[in-house]
Amino acid sequence: MLTIESLSAIEVLDSRARPTLAVTVSLEGGQTARAGVPSGASTGSREAHELRDGDPERFGGQGVRNAVANVGGEIAGALRGRQFPTVEEVDAALVELDGTSDKSRLGANAIVGVSMAVARAAAAAAGEPLWQFLAPPGVVPRMPVPHFNVVNGGMHARNGLAFQEFMLAPIGAPSFAEAVRAGAEVYAALSKELADRGLATGVGDEGGFAPEIVQPEEVLALLVGAIVAAGYEPGRKGVALAMDPASSELYRDGLYHVAGETLTSDAMIDRYEAMVDDFPVWLLEDGLAESDWDGWERLTSRLGERVRLVGDDILCTNPSIIREAISRKAGNAALIKVNQIGTVSETLEAMRICREAGWPQLVSHRSGETEDSFIADLAVGSGCGAIKSGAPARGERVAKYNRLVEIEVEHHLSYGLT
Ligand code: PGA
Ligand code: ZN
Repeated sequence: MLTIESLSAIEVLDSRARPTLAVTVSLEGGQTARAGVPSGASTGSREAHELRDGDPERFGGQGVRNAVANVGGEIAGALRGRQFPTVEEVDAALVELDGTSDKSRLGANAIVGVSMAVARAAAAAAGEPLWQFLAPPGVVPRMPVPHFNVVNGGMHARNGLAFQEFMLAPIGAPSFAEAVRAGAEVYAALSKELADRGLATGVGDEGGFAPEIVQPEEVLALLVGAIVAAGYEPGRKGVALAMDPASSELYRDGLYHVAGETLTSDAMIDRYEAMVDDFPVWLLEDGLAESDWDGWERLTSRLGERVRLVGDDILCTNPSIIREAISRKAGNAALIKVNQIGTVSETLEAMRICREAGWPQLVSHRSGETEDSFIADLAVGSGCGAIKSGAPARGERVAKYNRLVEIEVEHHLSYGLT
């Protein structure tokens, strides 16, 4: 039984100098756990609702004092002293207490912080590492392939590059530690290449470089060069490439706006096909916008056999939207962000639906992060085989990769895609 003795939150900063919550829970058994709440910039419209104070006098309206007060007030009042058989019951009680479909009354940021902290405390009470505690019955935990976001554009940088993320995926590495080494070595080679060309080596929100490059193909060519310069083989046997254009941000009036051009869905699909022909791109996230479902269906029939087509904004880690996408064959894989749906249990439910449909999952950080490494354990325990947590640089990104290194050293789990 889980019995919450105390529950509180404070307003702290995320990695982008914006306020977020740090939630602390103590159980009657004596376990105390803390969770840091992530926050996105290129958010899906159907994500659970983050509660911000809207007071222009503080942090430009971004303060989270109301969400903090909800954790220590109404939520603590409702949960404290009650006996819960499992974390799922705690999460169900949070959903019921909030009473809205998007967690907007108490705030998804308040709720997800409580849910993560409770799961962590419950793992400690069970005497298990978090990843093991989160592992569903019948699932074999494994070390995920990291997707290092090494070039940033879109909403995460101010460099004129329309596509948001360009990632390195060391699929061919023999272990997670060697994958980290490959990511870091290619990142260093890329830094040198940018400097040699007189391009900026400042970084965006997720720690990737934010050079003044406009065309996505130019970035892909640069990455292949950096992979080779670092001594690795470009492609699935070595280091493959992945992209998240976050194309909902490029979509206006039924057209995609990329580097001064306006493209239809079909023109975007043609362009992606050419990129997949010319470069070792193995995964494409949010290639089309969240409202362009017909486009997603055509994208999937054109490229679904060759590329992992991951839905982020279109799915929002939402079990019912994921079910719809599976039945419509809109995409073939799901991005998983705990704060998009708002509780750990609903996240695990979304992942279960994917698994049962044969859809792979990519566990993800947000552009606004804390030092919390919850998603590292989630990626291992769910056995999903893939994680993205930004560049192999900047503390809040590296916290997740370092936690994964620690899990690998201690538990010798096998590495790689499922
Ligand atoms: P966000 O971006 O955290 O700013 O939403 C991440 C992503 O689009 O995958
Ligand atoms: Zn995305």
